[in-house]
Amino acid sequence: MTPLDADWLAAHPLPEPPEDTDKNSRGRVLVAGGSEIVPGALRLTGEAALRAGAGKLQLATVERVAPHLGVLVPEAAIFGLPANDAGELGDAAGERLCGYLDRCDTLVLGPGTGAEAPGTAILAPVVAEPRGALSLVLDAAMIHAAADLATAIHAHQGRIVLTPHPGEMAGLMGCEDMRIAQDPAGIAQEAARRFNATVVLKGPETWIACPGEGLLRYPGGGPGLATGGSGDVLAGIIGGLMSRGAEPRAAAAWGVWLHGEAGKRLAARIGPLGFLARELPGEIPGLLAHP
Ligand code: AMP
Ligand code: MG
Repeated sequence: MTPLDADWLAAHPLPEPPEDTDKNSRGRVLVAGGSEIVPGALRLTGEAALRAGAGKLQLATVERVAPHLGVLVPEAAIFGLPANDAGELGDAAGERLCGYLDRCDTLVLGPGTGAEAPGTAILAPVVAEPRGALSLVLDAAMIHAAADLATAIHAHQGRIVLTPHPGEMAGLMGCEDMRIAQDPAGIAQEAARRFNATVVLKGPETWIACPGEGLLRYPGGGPGLATGGSGDVLAGIIGGLMSRGAEPRAAAAWGVWLHGEAGKRLAARIGPLGFLARELPGEIPGLLAHP
């Protein structure tokens, strides 16, 4: 196990865009998810992706939420997706989403997608075929869906990051919550092998496992990060870094560190508890400039 600290980050620098870059080559991120119950989740994820250096943001959410989200995030292009009766993404959302994938380098799928959404039906067409250089971040409800699609995900050659909290990890691996608490390092590595993907097992401390690579441990950014929307921000940071060209493991590690250090900075400035998930992304550019 290697500590995820300043030494590790210095040895694994992020790719920097050339001076003459444009917004498309800086990295195009598509974030898909949300619901009528959590209509603003994609704002958190999308803003985090931009703050991590992505050049272009697109958000895809249930049709009734889409125009409101567009006003909330004027930097983004917005696509409406079919919903089910519960106001969550519907069966046809996955096929519709596939029509947008040639416009992005990284897809972040899952933030704000509730338990009523047919996760497997949505994720299956996305992972059914290799899609060139497309990178994927799967979060929240899409972690549960991933459990049913291990073979297809394994075939994606590892440009996938899964970001389960302990409950989602238990669903992903089909085991008791107790096992996650007893052996987080072992289960993270087992999941990474099973899905041939980078796995971020997040919690008070976070483990990052990747097939064939050493396990990383981040000790945590403080209990203020245990707040609604915090994980949505993490998924967006990782997606933004991958769209810039970072490899999945490096993007996951940098993402976890930036998220945790943003929490520490807000705790020092505002107070250890009570800062908002939406305040985390604003800390990222400064942390990237001076890690
Ligand atoms: P989620 O449960 O998806 O909102 O994600 C929560 C985020 O907050 C993850 O990045 C966790 O690592 C982080 N987190 C949750 N609880 C704590 C804690 N007690 N201390 C530090 N970080 C935490
Ligand atoms: Mg979450």
